[in-house]
Amino acid sequence: TPKDYDVIIIGAGAAGLMCAATAAYRSRRVLLLDHAKRAGRKILISGGGRCNFTNQQVAPQNFVCSNPHFVKSALARYPSQNFIELVERHGIEYHEREHGQLFCNDSAKEIVEMLLTECEWAGVQVRLREEIQSVRQIDEQGFELNLVSGKLSCDSLVIATGGLSMPKLGATPFGYKLAEQFGLKVLDTCAGLVPFTWHADQKQRFEELSGIAVDANVKAQHGPAFKEALLFTHRGLSGPAALQASSYWTPGETIEIDLLPDSDVAQLLINAREASPKQSLKRALSQLLPKRLVEALFDEQLSSKSLNQLEHAELDAIEAQLKHWQLLLNGTEGYRTAEVTMGGVDTDELSSKTMESKKAPGLYFVGEVMDVSGWLGGFNFQWAWASGVACGLDC
Ligand code: FAD
Repeated sequence: TPKDYDVIIIGAGAAGLMCAATAAYRSRRVLLLDHAKRAGRKILISGGGRCNFTNQQVAPQNFVCSNPHFVKSALARYPSQNFIELVERHGIEYHEREHGQLFCNDSAKEIVEMLLTECEWAGVQVRLREEIQSVRQIDEQGFELNLVSGKLSCDSLVIATGGLSMPKLGATPFGYKLAEQFGLKVLDTCAGLVPFTWHADQKQRFEELSGIAVDANVKAQHGPAFKEALLFTHRGLSGPAALQASSYWTPGETIEIDLLPDSDVAQLLINAREASPKQSLKRALSQLLPKRLVEALFDEQLSSKSLNQLEHAELDAIEAQLKHWQLLLNGTEGYRTAEVTMGGVDTDELSSKTMESKKAPGLYFVGEVMDVSGWLGGFNFQWAWASGVACGLDC
């Protein structure tokens, strides 16, 4: 039976917009639905309003996924260079920041406008403020959507509803529920790229450090070390290094911090002792780190000792504290402030080439709704673009 549309995409965010334009350029009749009153709201607030839309250097290692191979095919098919070319074709000016991150010079609005323009040129119909009440399979390959405004049918159904972070911007568990309805496994979700929070006793000790930033190496037990800025806040630890580590952290695990990643602390102290043996530890360390931080890390008795009074065991302890600071944190700020959602639709259920589900032909998942999360630095958008294109070329 003929359907209302060839393709219906639910979610007009980064992945949904990209997928819609790609499919419509193949002359598919595409409808893009969203319950929000605007498309791409997360893009608009991303990167501090300038949208870190991709990264110069994208590799599978920049993504967290239960199956680390899953991302390879889509990323290879749509490298960041392709998106950069698209941005250039639309005359959007951009600049590179550290670690290959690309941002708009002016506003994230330009990226949303670019994607909406592409959708318009390709002939996508966009309908906002639409509530999808239910979805059912109608024949071998076909779906019927029950909207408040009526019923709609399609051959291919693409779920691009994103993750759970920032509920204020319209995030819902719609995609996870739909996956479960069709018998697909959904892996447990939690907040990623999110600040850590102190335990009560840590808060007492470190709260006054709020506002201090240092370049540190931060590492969760089962993740790589991230050497970036670490920021102390009233509530806990933030800044890129902490956010990155949070994506690899599970409650109950410690994180390890190297507060002086470029220094051999033992050697520095020996040199300082030779130069001025009577200098206090506090004074010596205050040349390397903010004084308030030194005071919070070492008790007065130790930090007021002069360098020539320090014993071997004390020097070892000082080095361990600075280079291998083990912290058992209380938790994270959760979805309220998280940039991404870890977990989601199990990638084992999907084709890595097309994002189509193996169990329900014609049903696709793109973007953050699946168990793929990128590092900070434009990788989450690159996944949205690449998975959107992979699906758009097939759906
Ligand atoms: P989304 O962009 O979240 O889109 C999902 C869409 O689905 C939304 O439009 C939503 O309204 C709609 N939707 C949800 N539920 C329903 C429903 N039930 N019915 C209908 N529609 C529904 N990543 C980067 O790479 N660079 C950055 O600079 C960056 N900055 C960020 C800043 C913040 C504050 C946040 C929160 C995230 C940031 N991210 C960044 C992450 C990035 O925004 C997401 O990974 C990306 O938007 C995911 O794309 P998506 O299309 O899968 O989901």
